[in-house]
Amino acid sequence: MTRQGKRGQRETPVFDIVPILEEFGAEIPHRGSGTWLKMKCPFHEDSAPSATVSFQANRFHCWVGCTDRAEDAIGLLMLYGDQSDFQSALAEAERITGTSGIPVRGERKRSSGVFGRSWNF
Ligand SMILES: [Zn+2]
Repeated sequence: MTRQGKRGQRETPVFDIVPILEEFGAEIPHRGSGTWLKMKCPFHEDSAPSATVSFQANRFHCWVGCTDRAEDAIGLLMLYGDQSDFQSALAEAERITGTSGIPVRGERKRSSGVFGRSWNF
C-alpha cells in the first residue's frame, strides 16, 4: 500500500459510504427519493433490512446495535475495519474509494495538496 504522508490534516474528509459498505459485502439499495433508505446490515446476520443508509449524509446506521449512531465511512472502518485507529481507517477509506475524500463544503482551509499524489488503480 503506497500512501503519501498526510499528517497535519485537521478535518476528517468525507468518503462515499457506498464503496465502503460494498467492501463489507452489503447490498446497496437503489437510490430513492427518501433521505434514509433501508438496507440489510452487512455487520450481522440480517434477514430483514434493519439498517438505514443516507447517500446524502454518507452515513450508515444499524438499528439493532452494530452502530451506536449513524456512522460515516471512517467510523465504520474504525468499528469493522482491519484496525480500529483513525489513521488506519483513513488509509483504508482512501484505498477502498481510490480518493482522498470528498472536500467538505464551505470554507476550504487547505488548498488541495494533490501534487505528487500517486493514484494506484
Ligand atoms: Zn447490524
